[in-house]
Amino acid sequence: MNTLPAFDAALIERYDRPGPRYTSYPSALQFTERFDEAAYRAAAARARAARGTAPLSVYVHVPFCASPCFYCGCSRIITRQFDRGEPYVQALEKEIALQGALFEGRRAVEQLHFGGGTPTFLSSEQLGRIMAALDDEFGLSESEGREFSIELDPRTISPPTLAALAGLGFNRISLGVQDFDPQVQQAVNRVQSVKDTLDLITEARRLGFRSVSVDLIYGLPYQTRESWARTLDVITRAAPDRIAAYSYAHLPERFKAQRHIDATRLPLPREKLALLALTIERFTRAGYDYIGMDHFARPHDELALARRDGTLHRNFQGYSTRGGLDLVGLGMTSIGALDDTYSQNARQLDGYYSAINAGVLAVDKGLRLTAEDKLRRDVIMALMCRDGLRFADIEAAHGIRFTEHFAAELGHLGLLEEDGLVRREADGIRVTPSGRLLLRAIAMVFDAYALRAVLAGAPRRHSAVI
Ligand code: SF4
Repeated sequence: MNTLPAFDAALIERYDRPGPRYTSYPSALQFTERFDEAAYRAAAARARAARGTAPLSVYVHVPFCASPCFYCGCSRIITRQFDRGEPYVQALEKEIALQGALFEGRRAVEQLHFGGGTPTFLSSEQLGRIMAALDDEFGLSESEGREFSIELDPRTISPPTLAALAGLGFNRISLGVQDFDPQVQQAVNRVQSVKDTLDLITEARRLGFRSVSVDLIYGLPYQTRESWARTLDVITRAAPDRIAAYSYAHLPERFKAQRHIDATRLPLPREKLALLALTIERFTRAGYDYIGMDHFARPHDELALARRDGTLHRNFQGYSTRGGLDLVGLGMTSIGALDDTYSQNARQLDGYYSAINAGVLAVDKGLRLTAEDKLRRDVIMALMCRDGLRFADIEAAHGIRFTEHFAAELGHLGLLEEDGLVRREADGIRVTPSGRLLLRAIAMVFDAYALRAVLAGAPRRHSAVI
């Protein structure tokens, strides 16, 4: 169901301001070190009491990569010493035992994601040990609907490894592609062939993986409409189930690797918008549904179905069909969400190892949401995932009068209404087709922290909304 309007570059340019991606609300910038291991254990106890045997979502972070992609803003460690994987796996096994004890083995893992870094920096045997530890301590779901996904770098994985991953129980893969143009690939230090990538997709289908997802990035150096169109054509023909086309955010002051990128070769803002327009036009014409926030899915895909039936959610991995599952984060820098808290593990390997090897969880910081945070989170997630909200639903869940509680926000929304991004109705707020391309800008109206940061003149810590 494609309800996107004609691309309005001037409108999008007007709202192109830094803002969170709302994979959580509040965003990770609000986490504090006051939230410690004891706070995490208390959250786990509350989650255990409240949710009984409800399934869990688990994220495993593998930080190592063999070479640096210059655009990258992920938490990763560049090394070709593959033996660095072993102590990390041993630490993960210990952490899984520590975490599993908190849930007394009563909550099976229904959703599992391995991200990085490069998860396949680890051998299949090492990945198998992590899966076995998860099965021992939590229990891995064997249901048909389980979602076990892993991020793959087509430069470092071959079809036999893919078969091993299928054997371990993974049923979804996410392939990093970014751009196939040779000049762009050189400029970002990520040279990967079309053939290797397409062979992996073919092999994944043959092995019965339920979903193949591809990541692209627009706004990279040397990208032009012509070169980008060629990449889009290849991907369209390969027909993955899901596509994420991210906007490159050039923040060299925050991400050291980006200092290798020649900023004079980046597409100008107008050209970058043209790349976005081309992306949307090509994928929707090829039959993909626009899910929101850079994501596309084939109409039969669970993500597209969830969007249509109003059950779509957002979590730290982006859009998801599984809302409300408690999330356990494992590994350096990983983020968890238990009960009414968010937490993040140590962001440096040393800190992660010293905590785990001392037999304590590596929780470094986090946040317990206030009632106001939960209210605003519900509003923002409804806008991001369901194109709007009914006042009565929010009022019933949070015991407020929407129009009174958000009188100032509804006033700000008036400007967006004038620009045709939202429609205020008697019983709620609707995001218009034009607004679907500017969800972050709409959500920011209800973000108390973003507003405070703007008022305080805080330095830029988010990427622009496009
Ligand atoms: S983009 Fe992926 S493979 Fe490249 S450096 Fe970042 S995490 Fe590693």
